[in-house]
Amino acid sequence: MTHGDKNTFPRLASEFGYIPIEKTLAIAEAIVTTQRDWGNRTERKNAKTKYTLERVGIETFKQEVERRSGVIFDAIRPYEFTHRGDQIGWLKGVDDKWHLTLFIESGRLIDKPDAQLKTGVAEIAKIHQGDFRLTANQNLIVAGVPENEKANIEAIARRYGLIDDKVTPLREHAMACVSFPTCPLAMAEAERFLPSFTDTLDSLMTKHGVSEEHIVVRVTGCPNGCGRAMLAEVGLVGKAPDRYNLHLGGNRIGTRIPRMYRENITSQEIIAILDSLIGDWAISRHNNEGFGDFLIRTNVVKPVLNSATDFYEVQEAV
Ligand code: SF4
Repeated sequence: MTHGDKNTFPRLASEFGYIPIEKTLAIAEAIVTTQRDWGNRTERKNAKTKYTLERVGIETFKQEVERRSGVIFDAIRPYEFTHRGDQIGWLKGVDDKWHLTLFIESGRLIDKPDAQLKTGVAEIAKIHQGDFRLTANQNLIVAGVPENEKANIEAIARRYGLIDDKVTPLREHAMACVSFPTCPLAMAEAERFLPSFTDTLDSLMTKHGVSEEHIVVRVTGCPNGCGRAMLAEVGLVGKAPDRYNLHLGGNRIGTRIPRMYRENITSQEIIAILDSLIGDWAISRHNNEGFGDFLIRTNVVKPVLNSATDFYEVQEAV
């Protein structure tokens, strides 16, 4: 989205239906070519597929995809999202190999004074016979490890700080875009701000007795949203140096857009707001109730139900 332009807005994906896995590429190609031919080429800010879907309607777009691909969607099948993010640590795959997901804060694989992350991965690469995979959450998977190499790889990862048992659930789920100093579109710090912001939030979680819980926190340096703050429980969107729009009320599984709660406020103001709200959540939440769900249930935040029409409705101050 673009600050101040209500013709731009975040949007959730739309479901077209079920297709068998072997039809995936045909459908993907048809979606891309439909967007290529139907997308808005006169207003760049409305060039994305989400705006095409809004303009022509989901059913029309879907029928065109079916026509181009020759594949008809079946009815949507029942499913349930139970969590999002990566499962950090070891998992055994169906191939009987082991896969080690390493938490890499903001995906920045560098040698730091307290942890030689880049060197550690290079050391693992010297003995690893499988793949390295980048995840959509900025982490790294050492994939395809046979049972007899597992201990070796874990020992190297621990030696170089690639496994750190002290990383909190909140930090594991936090994400930022690259922003300053790399991105020319940046308006506020994101990647360089996130570690200290997470430290502060972790101390609030401890203060309120919920350090074992997590809140999905994301910081993005401008409204282009590369840090995916618009699917966070707490989303910060950069406005200017140390000034952000604070969005609240997304959910843990990433299927609700958070509403703007306060506009253009400092990080100190954000921390004061979150201190109070996390305190309320810690005391009054239902069993397993996420922070964002709590804010919606208790009317602190009005839910965004259809972002094309209600994203910019004003959130009353409470
Ligand atoms: S969200 Fe904005 S500041 Fe961050 S990487 Fe994307 S374009 Fe750059």
